[in-house]
Amino acid sequence: MNSLKFADANSSFNDAKFVIFGVPFDSTSSFRSGSRFAPNRIREASYNFETYLMEQDVDLIDIPFHDAGNLDEYGNVDEMTGAVEDAVKKILPKFPILIGGEHSLTIGAVKTLKNVSVVFIDAHLDFREEYLGIKNSHACVSRRVSEIVGIENVFSIGVRSFSREEKNDAEKLGLKYVSSFDVKEKGIEKSIRNLNLKKKIYLSLDMDGVDPAFAPGVGNPEPFGLTPLDVVKCIKILSDRLVGFDVAEVCPPYDNGNTSLLGARIIRDLIGCAGKYRI
Ligand code: MN
Ligand code: MN
Repeated sequence: MNSLKFADANSSFNDAKFVIFGVPFDSTSSFRSGSRFAPNRIREASYNFETYLMEQDVDLIDIPFHDAGNLDEYGNVDEMTGAVEDAVKKILPKFPILIGGEHSLTIGAVKTLKNVSVVFIDAHLDFREEYLGIKNSHACVSRRVSEIVGIENVFSIGVRSFSREEKNDAEKLGLKYVSSFDVKEKGIEKSIRNLNLKKKIYLSLDMDGVDPAFAPGVGNPEPFGLTPLDVVKCIKILSDRLVGFDVAEVCPPYDNGNTSLLGARIIRDLIGCAGKYRI
């Protein structure tokens, strides 16, 4: 049992509206590994912050949320996504918050939720059919998710890196994405409104969607990214329709501390924003 809890996660499981759990898995990492350390590092960082969220006039002590600890450290990605699926099944209809670990965890979460739109914030399209022989790789997340919820229900924001094959497949199959350059030009608010999102939303934040100047400790850093304020604005705009959230790819061995702090602060912001609609 993991004794380190996310700050202010004082509720019992039964009374909680939100349930946090960690997924310490990074076996398919292709460049920098170490995201398995992120759940606990983000928990430690969460103690830096006030319970009162100034910009939302919400106090987190008024929102019951629970930290269920970490899943086991699985050696195999399919075992990990299966365990995530089971864990989310036990949490619903409460709001699951997953702390990765690598991005492949989203596949397990979405398998349980099914009838949702999935919004990714990510530098990468993650639309490979397979990567290094692994279908549930972190580089194939949006592809696998599109097979579960339908490609018309998948949206990626902040994209600025993909292979030629991914681009061709995305065009052929109709994957909708907004580049970080589009966000810079139009603003995050307009970029999201243009997506015309209708269903309930599962939001998946691959931390590398944020610029490495703000989030240096990630598995695959990519310049020209979103700002942290773009991300919290995105959360605010979507908050009345959110049903689940994950933050993935924070990589503590390459962090100066700021990336874990940002992850923790974004989780707190999300609980504040979505909590308004759940208490
Ligand atoms: Mn990425
Ligand atoms: Mn990703």
